[in-house]
Amino acid sequence: MLRRGRDFIHLPGPTNIPDRILQAMHRPVVDFAGAEFSKMARGCLDELRRVFQTAGPVYAYSANGHGAWEVVLDNLIAPGEHVLMPDTGRFSESWTEMAAALGVHVTKTDAYHDRPIDPAAIEALLSADAGHAIKAVLMVQVETSTGVTHDVAAVRRAIDAAGHPALLLVDAIACLACIDLPMDAWGVDLVVAASQKGLMMPPGMAFVAVGARAQQVAANGGAPRRYWDWRMREGEESYYWFYGTPPIQMMYGLRESLDMLFEEGLPQVFRRHERLAEATRRAVARWGEAGELVFQCQVPEARSNIVTAVRFPSGADPDALRVMCRDRLSVAFGGGIGPFVGQLLRIGHLGDLNEPMLLGALGTLEVAMRASGVPHKGGGVDAAAQYLADTLE
Ligand SMILES: *Cc1c(COP(=O)(O)O)cnc(C)c1O
Repeated sequence: MLRRGRDFIHLPGPTNIPDRILQAMHRPVVDFAGAEFSKMARGCLDELRRVFQTAGPVYAYSANGHGAWEVVLDNLIAPGEHVLMPDTGRFSESWTEMAAALGVHVTKTDAYHDRPIDPAAIEALLSADAGHAIKAVLMVQVETSTGVTHDVAAVRRAIDAAGHPALLLVDAIACLACIDLPMDAWGVDLVVAASQKGLMMPPGMAFVAVGARAQQVAANGGAPRRYWDWRMREGEESYYWFYGTPPIQMMYGLRESLDMLFEEGLPQVFRRHERLAEATRRAVARWGEAGELVFQCQVPEARSNIVTAVRFPSGADPDALRVMCRDRLSVAFGGGIGPFVGQLLRIGHLGDLNEPMLLGALGTLEVAMRASGVPHKGGGVDAAAQYLADTLE
């Protein structure tokens, strides 16, 4: 069947790439040794510190988020060492599997799949580690597989309350530049992110912001490494910052992305995400008034501002709904992944997004629920529209 018009992406990543970024990237190769590229690339890496809210360096890799995870482990944790990884869902699970494959011992926790990490449990686990074998706590800020926002500052306080020297390393791959993460102010030692989510760029780059303590640990330890070693990314020339040929077009895209974020202002970007997320939650709440749809996250204030994960206790098949939306109605939502396969529909609402895009997506989901007889209360789009009207600035 031939379809016209645009396709819409409401995945929790990759996200919409603004035309401005696409156009900025549409250019021939330049000599990366020349002054123009070097100045531009250096400026991006330096200005990324504003996005990470850190005074420390930000290193760039031609990799996806999984590559950034390996950067963290290789630079900081040697085979045979121990880390603590709260079980938040699919992404903490995959990071745990990677650590195990690299010979790192991982202490898991109870599952926090429908609620935020319990800081008291973290404190207890660290207090029990009297010999300080645990080198780091590795956590995901927004666990994209569940839609739960985990409280980074609370985990920091738990580490401090235990009097434990473990580093705090945060995966903000999904949510950097969507929600607040004042890295230095919250005492976070390292943050990782990737290009294709809040930064609105194509997939293919990863970023690692490194605090002073993490730099110190890396200088004296970590695993045998070379390509992922961030110390290899220092130097005078752009060739060194990427340990080889820079991803030239991606860097022009990043320049445009940073310009767009700073033009809007980070607080305004966070506020826009919060507002569009709340509109989504109003719609879901209305559809589920008699329990036909429920939020995966049971704690209302922890429902994330970048993705809303929904369950269907009525027995409706979220994957059938998702496929209908994508293949018949031109809107791509996320499905359940990892432990949640077949159980969830995930509505992504992050990146380059405005009211009509969101209302279109919510309206489309309502069309699909009607067409496929999924039990729900009508008026979800109306509830979202009312909230957007009430909060229009
Ligand atoms: C998307 C995502 C990842 C993985 O990123 P890739 O670029 O797909 O490797 C890791 N963690 C979180 C929280 C994510 O949302």
